[in-house]
Amino acid sequence: MECSAIAHCIMSTTEISGQGPAYPAGTILAADDASIAAAAAVLAHGGTVAVPTETVYGLAARADQDASVAAIYRAKGRPDFNPLIVHVPDIAAAERLALFDDRARLLAAAFWPGALTLVLPRREGADLAAAVSAGLPTVALRCPAHLVMQAVLRACGLPLAAPSANRSGAISPTRAAHVAASLGDRVDLVLDGGDTRQGIESTIVGLRVDGGWAVLRPGPITPEAIAAVLGMEASDHDRAKIEAPGQLASHYAPGKPVRLNASEAAADEFLIGFGHVAGDTTLSATADLAEAAARLYACLHAGAADPRPRIAIAPIPDAGIGIAINDRLRRAAA
Ligand code: AMP
Ligand code: MG
Repeated sequence: MECSAIAHCIMSTTEISGQGPAYPAGTILAADDASIAAAAAVLAHGGTVAVPTETVYGLAARADQDASVAAIYRAKGRPDFNPLIVHVPDIAAAERLALFDDRARLLAAAFWPGALTLVLPRREGADLAAAVSAGLPTVALRCPAHLVMQAVLRACGLPLAAPSANRSGAISPTRAAHVAASLGDRVDLVLDGGDTRQGIESTIVGLRVDGGWAVLRPGPITPEAIAAVLGMEASDHDRAKIEAPGQLASHYAPGKPVRLNASEAAADEFLIGFGHVAGDTTLSATADLAEAAARLYACLHAGAADPRPRIAIAPIPDAGIGIAINDRLRRAAA
């Protein structure tokens, strides 16, 4: 575990009292009952905690206070206020914040807890900071499956806003060391739960009140799987009608040029392989798309750290989770 190298890991967590966080900012703690209780105390006091989920590490803060939501933006250095995804421990907690229709209940029953985010009408009087949905009448909700995130949500008893725990526009973190390298002491506490399992951000689905639906951000749950549950295909018409700010053209940037669809590397390129394209490292030697998604950001981090000035990436089939991988790669190359 990365955290073995970090002296703060062995600090006692008993210093956390009702008075607020007792660790130096940026402390990494192995996730266990004591550190989860410490994280809940930091969050209750309006602080930020990086928490592993099944997708990527999230930068969590309580979603019911403008000041704590602002702390997320400050830590990430986000230039503008995009809406954030709000995380809840179960459907009951989600229904206190948003209006669920039959389709939303079907999707939640099929995919929660898991890597699906639903954009739904915000419930009137919902205890959410205005900043969390950036003035939209809707709110994006997810019930994550990761045991550490679940435990944190239950320990603090608050909905948590949690975008990826990296500086704005940079590569998303899939391990605690990525969070530390990107945010350092800009985050109050980091819970180390090892490598994330799925590795790319959740699928975001928008449901229109009067019928249609659209994938607003591709992710681990495919459009086919969603259409199978809803008994209806997504439509571009609906996508155009659902406001989804913040899907920026340049994102996940490794800080050097990225070339896509490369079958071999030039002398100055670090090659990320897939299938029969071997590369300096590979997303998946067996061409397994789920493995490729799980390894995507770690491979981009490796390319960013390599002395060679450019990154090249093998072609990835544009089907299933490959759609989400290619979405991230296009933004990394933009
Ligand atoms: P994340 O950075 O993973 O928290 O994801 C935030 C993204 O979710 C935003 O940039 C939007 O694209 C999308 N999103 C969040 N809330 C909404 C909303 N109310 N309506 C539409 N899209 C949203
Ligand atoms: Mg992000």
